[in-house]
Amino acid sequence: MSERTLVLLKPDAVRRGLVGELIGRYETKGLSIIAMDLRTIDGELADRHYAEHVERDFYPPLRAFVTSGPMLAMVLEGDAAIDVVRTLNGATDGRKAAPGSIRGDLSLSNRENLVHGSDSADSAKREIALWFPDL
Ligand code: UDP
Repeated sequence: MSERTLVLLKPDAVRRGLVGELIGRYETKGLSIIAMDLRTIDGELADRHYAEHVERDFYPPLRAFVTSGPMLAMVLEGDAAIDVVRTLNGATDGRKAAPGSIRGDLSLSNRENLVHGSDSADSAKREIALWFPDL
């Protein structure tokens, strides 16, 4: 079933010059780009995006990280796009993510792990409305 999901290329991805490589992974898999925007977000949007994590110990440094520079936000579409993106992204901790995944190949961090992908249909709906309200 065709689905839409929100993908963020986090500030580390932009700083490291990996935008082309990462978009290429999603495109060559067969996902379509529906919307795209390069944006530096403020703490308020970070808090809304990561609403489920704001009380966690790891949130203050995560908030500082995701507001530290531009991120590339995208809506991707395709068959089972939500799960497909999360498989391409790999496990949260880049040190443990499987080789072949984006994080497994390109990240050594549990925080600066390059990418975000919505984790469920409900999250995708909420996050797409948050980032791309006109879509
Ligand atoms: N994160 C962190 N420390 C942790 C766990 C997560 O800094 O101990 C960051 C990391 O950037 C991760 C994001 O918080 O991508 C959201 O965490 P989640 O568990 O939702 O992971 P994801 O869905 O991104 O794999």
